[in-house]
Formats: sequence, structure tokens, C-alpha cells
Amino acid sequence: MAQIQKDSASLVADWETLRRIFIRPEDDNSKKVLVKYMEQILFGLHDFLNKHVGVTEEISLIKLAEEYTDTKINKNPQKKLANVIKDIIDEIAPRAVNVASPYFIGHMTSAIPFFMVHLKAITAALNQNVIKIETSKVLSVLEKQILAKMHRMIFNFDETFYLEHVQNTETCLGVFTTGGTTANLTALWVARNKLFAPKDDFKSIETDGFYQAMKAHDLERVVILISKRGHFSFRKAGGVLGFGNQNVIPIDVDETRSIDLVKLKKKIKEFGADKKTKIAAIVGIAGATETGIIDPLPQLADICQKHGIHFHVDAAWGGPVLLSEKYSHLLKGIERADSVSIDCHKQFYMPMTAGMVYFKDPKALDQIVYHSSYVNRRGSVDLGIKTLEGSREANSLILDSSLKIMGSRGYALMIEYGIETARQFSEIIEKRPLFQLLTKPQLNIVTYRMIPENIREQLKTADEIERRRLDAILDDINTRIQRTQREAGKSFVSRTQLKINTTDDYDTVVLRCVIMNPMTNVSILNEILDEQESILKNILPATPFQ
Ligand SMILES: *Cc1c(COP(=O)(O)O)cnc(C)c1O
Repeated sequence: MAQIQKDSASLVADWETLRRIFIRPEDDNSKKVLVKYMEQILFGLHDFLNKHVGVTEEISLIKLAEEYTDTKINKNPQKKLANVIKDIIDEIAPRAVNVASPYFIGHMTSAIPFFMVHLKAITAALNQNVIKIETSKVLSVLEKQILAKMHRMIFNFDETFYLEHVQNTETCLGVFTTGGTTANLTALWVARNKLFAPKDDFKSIETDGFYQAMKAHDLERVVILISKRGHFSFRKAGGVLGFGNQNVIPIDVDETRSIDLVKLKKKIKEFGADKKTKIAAIVGIAGATETGIIDPLPQLADICQKHGIHFHVDAAWGGPVLLSEKYSHLLKGIERADSVSIDCHKQFYMPMTAGMVYFKDPKALDQIVYHSSYVNRRGSVDLGIKTLEGSREANSLILDSSLKIMGSRGYALMIEYGIETARQFSEIIEKRPLFQLLTKPQLNIVTYRMIPENIREQLKTADEIERRRLDAILDDINTRIQRTQREAGKSFVSRTQLKINTTDDYDTVVLRCVIMNPMTNVSILNEILDEQESILKNILPATPFQ
């Protein structure tokens, strides 16, 4: 502390110091300190991770928030870089969430290979902006190559097709985005614009706006159809793109928890009879966020083809499964999509944040072309011409390097491990009397809930009304188990709401696990269930479940 105060007194913001920070890091002594910290950071914050096997420090959010209330910007420098880094390592890291912990199995953000930190540091150091060739050069060319590789992974056209398009400046096989949300938004943006063809005075919805588009096409409503398990980014897209988010229509799931095709067809018929309504897109999910369930993609493709509707597949989560020869068949039908979203910061194990969206038609992205006179000039190779994002980092370099380091086989091993461990986990859950598995996992996401013995007994003979009453009690119990476990900070599972039986007209609280960390194993999963059992024992006496 004394050291920092002394430092702070001698620190001034002057031109000399400013000039220096662009050239070299402070003096020789702090350079040594910085290298030491860089080592610590680059090798996975090892000291921190080894000391903290748990998920986070036990401190309440209210208390934390009290420490962050100073809203004045300091005029003079307070700390040297070395001290700032030291503070981050000592004070911020332990209070952040150790998403790399093998006990952290609640969300889609998890451990990343240690080399990702190196690659991220390199992209920061190069600081290329792939919006335009003038600030990225080879990175734009490399990006087009990796886009073609991913396109090939999904759509698998022939060599001639890829030779024609890989470096073609007129066409575009896909784009990098900030994540799944903007990938889905981009796909629906293209679908929306495609829907409203030019007509008489009407040029496009992009130029003339929604009102003129609807008038020209004699429509009153445009809808998107997606299963109830669709990610909420589609509702955002509904809002942003002007459809209105209530026109992103949720279709029930069937007993497999994937989109109910009978109900979907019924809806299409209903809208077909109404000449004033049009369907802009049907979305198939390849790995639902909450359940990991994959919609029947070939059947959805048939339906879309029959009715001439844009078919989008949200593979934000499941996309990389295509790299596994063993399980890629689960995504069969994806090659018939018009557009496909895949997140990089999920099962491509890249650091936050990066996503991608691909289009089967290399001209599809022409629907959202934007030029400007200082960048993105007509006919240029600038990658910012057909993206929602403006300035953008060179995430393609990270994906490209990672594929070089691990190969598709390396990714496949991680994906396969996740799927198989989730399967084993679900079998363990089924064997434990205090647990109820919701569905057999298709990918690496497992949902279940806890049921105390006496409630399980009562459920056996309960009628509809009684079952509803018991489910409400179970909701309370499972919410408290999840919260208690989270607050204890040793391990973390998340919770969501699903129907126990697909015929129920109400949702029930369930616990949700995402098995993507290769260090998470069956014995750790058993420990997590043990902890939940002991939490249940502790909270039961206080629960009025009779
Ligand atoms: C995570 C996810 C999204 C949203 O992606 P972000 O990267 O969080 O914006 C969309 N769809 C699915 C299926 C997802 O799992």
C-alpha cells in the first residue's frame, strides 16, 4: 500500500510519459515485473487457478457493489501498469468467476485452451481492423479463406465452387460477427430483404422502409417461425428489423423437445390462408441453448423448400459438432439451410467474443451491402461492406491458428468427450433416487431436477391439480438448491424453466448443466450431485411440503 501511495505521488500525466507508453513499457525494472505478470497471464493465470479450484470467492454482490461507487475520474495517474496488473490478479480475478473450473458446468462459457490467450494477445498487438483492406491486408484475405473452410464444413460444395469463391471479391460466403445474437440478426436481415422484391416504385425495404414494403406487397404482417426453445436473440431481431417481436412465433415442442412439426405445419397453413401475412423465415435449432436438443433439420428443409421460405439454422451452439465424424450425422440437413449461425466463443473454444454466419448462396449478402466513400468503396475487397458490425478485430486469425494447432480431430475429441460425458452423467442422474432426468441428452447439455423422497411418493398418485401443487413446491426447492450451491462458490450449475411433460401447460424449474470443459469428469459430476443432495437435506426441514 505504502509503495503504491509513493508511486501515485510521483505519477504525472505529461507529454514525456505519454510518448513513452507508446514505445516501451516503463523502466527496466517494471519491464521485468510486467514480463513476470505476462507469463502468469499467458499461462492461464496459473497461480490463481491452482489456488482457487472453486468457482468464485464467497462475497455478496451487495457488498461488492458498495466498493464500486466512486464515479469521479481521477485527473492524475494513480498506478503504474505493473501495479494495475498486480491488483487485477490479486483483487479482481478471485472475485470474478472462474469459468475454467471443471466444477463450473452451468453455462456455455468455459475453459479455453491456454494458447487462446496468446492468440488473443497477438490480435491485440497487431490491432488490425478487418473492416477494410487498408487496415488489415493479409488478414482480410485469410478471413475469406477461413470463411470458405467453414462454409465447406457446413454445405460441402465441390472444389470448383470453393476455388471460384474463396477469394472472390464479388461474393461472400459468410461473415464474422460479435456473437450468435448478431449472427442470427444478420441472417434474418438478409431473409427480410430477400422477401420484399422490388416492385413498381418500391426499391427495397432497406431503402424504403417497412411501411412502403408492406404497402407495395399488400401485406399486414410478416412472421418468423421458431420452436419455443429458440434463443431470445430472435425476439431482439424481430424488434430491430421491424417485424415486431410478437411476430417471432414460438411453436411448441413435441415429446422429443424439438419443434413439433404437426403444429408447425398447422401454423404455416393458417398463415397461408391469410393473404395479408407472410413467413419471412423458419428457424431450426441445432443445439438449443437450454436443452441442447436439435430440431429435425431435414424435415424443416423439406417444409421450407416446399413453401419457398428462407431456412435458417441456429447452430450457435451445435455447429462445431460437424467436425466430429462420429456425431456430425446429428446435424444432417444443415447443408440444406439458406443461412447458418455458429458461435466461435462457444464450442470453438475461442475467447469472448466472436460468432459467424454463413449463407449457402454466395450472393445472399448482397441484400445488406453498404458502401461509403472513405472505406468500403465499390468493388473493393473490404470485408466491412456486408456486415452489421463496423470496425472489427481479426478473429479469423484465432480460429485459423486454433484449427492449425488442434486440427478438426482435436475439436472433435472435445465435442465427443462432452457428448459422451453428458450421456454418462444422465445415466448417473437416472440411477440416483433423489434426481429426475428431464430428457436423454442429444448433445452435451443435461437438464434434471431434485425430488425429495416423500414428494416422489405423492407424485405417484397425484391428480393434475395435486401434481401442479407439488411441482410448485419442487420449483421452490430446486431454485434454492441452485442458489445455495452458487453462493457457496465451489461449483456451479444453472437453472431454467421447462415443461416436465410436454403436455403440461406450465413450466417447471430445472437444473441445467453444460459439459464442455474437458477437465470435467464423472467423479467431479458425482461430487456436484453429492453437494446438491446435502443442500437438499439442509433446506428440507424449512420446506412446507406436506
Ligand atoms: C448462445 C446462443 C445464441 C446467442 O449467442 P451470443 O453469442 O450469446 O450472442 C443464439 N442461439 C443459440 C442456440 C445459442 O446457444
